[in-house]
Amino acid sequence: MARIVMKFGGTSVADVARIKNVAQRVKREVDAGHEVAVVVSAMAGVTNQLVGWVNETARLHDAREYDVVVASGEQVTSGLLALALQDIGVSARSWLGWQLPLHTDGVHGKARIKGIESDDVIRRFKDGQVAIMAGFQGLGPDARITTLGRGGSDTSAVALAAALRADRCDIFTDVDGVYTTDPRIVTKARKLDKITYEEMLELASQGAKVLQTRSVELAMNHRVRVQVLSSFVDSPGTLVVDEDEIVEKEVVSGIAYSRDEAKITLVRVPDRPGVAAGIFGPLADAAINVDMIVQNVSGDNQTTDLTFTVGKADLARAVQMLEQARSKLNFTELRPDSNVVKVSVIGVGMRSHAGVAQKMFSTLASKNINIQVISTSEIKVSVLIAEEYLELALRALHTAYGLDAA
Ligand code: ADP
Ligand code: ASP
Ligand code: MG
Repeated sequence: MARIVMKFGGTSVADVARIKNVAQRVKREVDAGHEVAVVVSAMAGVTNQLVGWVNETARLHDAREYDVVVASGEQVTSGLLALALQDIGVSARSWLGWQLPLHTDGVHGKARIKGIESDDVIRRFKDGQVAIMAGFQGLGPDARITTLGRGGSDTSAVALAAALRADRCDIFTDVDGVYTTDPRIVTKARKLDKITYEEMLELASQGAKVLQTRSVELAMNHRVRVQVLSSFVDSPGTLVVDEDEIVEKEVVSGIAYSRDEAKITLVRVPDRPGVAAGIFGPLADAAINVDMIVQNVSGDNQTTDLTFTVGKADLARAVQMLEQARSKLNFTELRPDSNVVKVSVIGVGMRSHAGVAQKMFSTLASKNINIQVISTSEIKVSVLIAEEYLELALRALHTAYGLDAA
């Protein structure tokens, strides 16, 4: 007998027929004698619609009320799945974030989980009851509903698995595993049997939406055995594992992209100490994350150009803040550009192999794709390019690093 957490994403619970299909899958595990807890997302498209309604009602909205609205999608699917299970003779009960409760901090819209009270769920396991937890939501310190950021049901599931000390956490989605890159863009993408926590973390944080970044962090810290697999086909998925479980280490194991970046160039900023602090300090104070930064060598020892990226959603606010500080910062021009994407190649093998970045640069050059900004870390190289070259770049890099499926 094992204790398992099963998480079903939006497309897996997109309508009542699919919810019934999920109920059958859950029943199979119950019939096999396992203790089962399930985490569900909202039906596909529902959260987007709820976010749209919030924005339509009030552009500068109160984050507490945003959470009240957008958390509602998961309430529907958790109740429907409980009903579908009961209908086929499986004892089941739904749990909303505030009912367990799943405690979070008070950062509405992107709250972090503090802890889950799971004693009740464990007690009911003994009576053969399945717990169905609404993903994406929790209870803040102000006693109000919080949400965990888009894609947050993955994190709910991993946190529940950690709290329950589950033997595994299966994330059911609309692809049958983690691929070398997004299979919806590169048809030659290859499914990975295993991927290390570290690589998965980097892939997720560089834009691969298959798992929310925070869920991988949690899985890594609490050693939760996560598997990503399809809710539509019966085949083994991808296991997220420790590095020593992978025998053949690839130099590059995956390529991620993010359309969420925007670029800002400040032209002719004074080249003297304190200028970078003057620019990035206020952005940090306003909780605007800066990702890539490049400062050119100054030609005249007087001024230099500074280019950096922020999240697309923060671009307007960043531009407004910088314009307000223009007289203090003394730049001559501010050029915003949201027509960019970030492409990142990732692999733990990079630690011991040289030439990975060079291959990326020469491959992009051979396709005439201009690199605007570069950043690297121990197991990753990222470049910023114009958005129209995304697909071409992904395909060319995928082939260049020998990742194409046979
Ligand atoms: P869910 O609703 O089940 O949480 P998501 O849409 O959040 O599903 O995540 C699954 C999607 O992630 C896939 O449909 C795929 O397009 C995308 N994706 C991006 N990169 C990858 C990758 N490397 N491997 C698998 N899927 C990826
Ligand atoms: N329903 C939420 C979203 O669309 C959470 C999730 O699906 O993981 O972001
Ligand atoms: Mg998701």
